[in-house]
Amino acid sequence: MSEKLALKKTTLQGGKPGPHLLVLGGVHGDEFESMAAIRRLKRTVDASGVRGRLTLVPVVNEGAFIRGERTAEDGLDLARTCPGRPDGSITERVAHEVSSLIRTSDFLIDLHSGGNIMHFYPTVGYTLHPDSEVLDVQRRLAEAFNLPIIWGTTSQLDGRTLSVARDARIPAIYAEYMGGGICSPDGVDAYTEGCLNVMSELGMIEREQPDNRTVHTVEDDSDQSGLIQVNYQSPVDGYFNPTVKLTQSVVPGDVLGEVTDPMGETVEEIVSVQTGIVLCLRVFNRVLKGDSLGAVLVLE
Ligand SMILES: [Zn+2]
Repeated sequence: MSEKLALKKTTLQGGKPGPHLLVLGGVHGDEFESMAAIRRLKRTVDASGVRGRLTLVPVVNEGAFIRGERTAEDGLDLARTCPGRPDGSITERVAHEVSSLIRTSDFLIDLHSGGNIMHFYPTVGYTLHPDSEVLDVQRRLAEAFNLPIIWGTTSQLDGRTLSVARDARIPAIYAEYMGGGICSPDGVDAYTEGCLNVMSELGMIEREQPDNRTVHTVEDDSDQSGLIQVNYQSPVDGYFNPTVKLTQSVVPGDVLGEVTDPMGETVEEIVSVQTGIVLCLRVFNRVLKGDSLGAVLVLE
């Protein structure tokens, strides 16, 4: 029998009626900005002044966090395993618990980063939900969250927290902020501010909204949009040397980096097939064949 698993969460019950906002961090165990920002919200939000209820889960995937890795010991990606199973492996059980919690909420924010191996330029995203009412709210929340990139992508992908929210018609956004195995202090600030901005947008707190700092808003409804693992995979095991920087403009044919063998005798160039800016980039140099090396945000 699998042991029953309980997520460690804090609920701030406001003094007045209002919506239930759920904020998740650490769905992947090596994404630290989310965890620190949620703990800061727990310390600083005064529940008596809140309309509605705020539920905070700083570290959803505790097994992965203890390992210091993206996944727990069963190797399953929690963001591909929802809605999970109550009697499954550790990640399947966490997926089941977090999916049940999502269904109790009215709005969801799921905070991520590039993890140990990637830098991800600050981005807030949502699914292009088939229900225009849900989609409009998601657009509003993403804009309020206030990161430089707003990215709407296909609603067809399954297994995510956002897929559970999609199926329950709960407006949901996610965010990405750098990574690379450390916790960016700017990311913690931006995530804390972003959540407060969303609470204000939802009427849960009184707060003056800051100046908008969106640089690009992109909506892409093509298959697999938003799945950053698909376009630039390492062709071999080796050492990845990126030759571009985050947000650099690229066109098809531009070299994003190269993968060499340990002796530097063979060099495989990684060439852009898209026009846009570099949105995320591998920073952990050792790569295995098939590993994702980066992604380009396609701009027209
Ligand atoms: Zn993540």
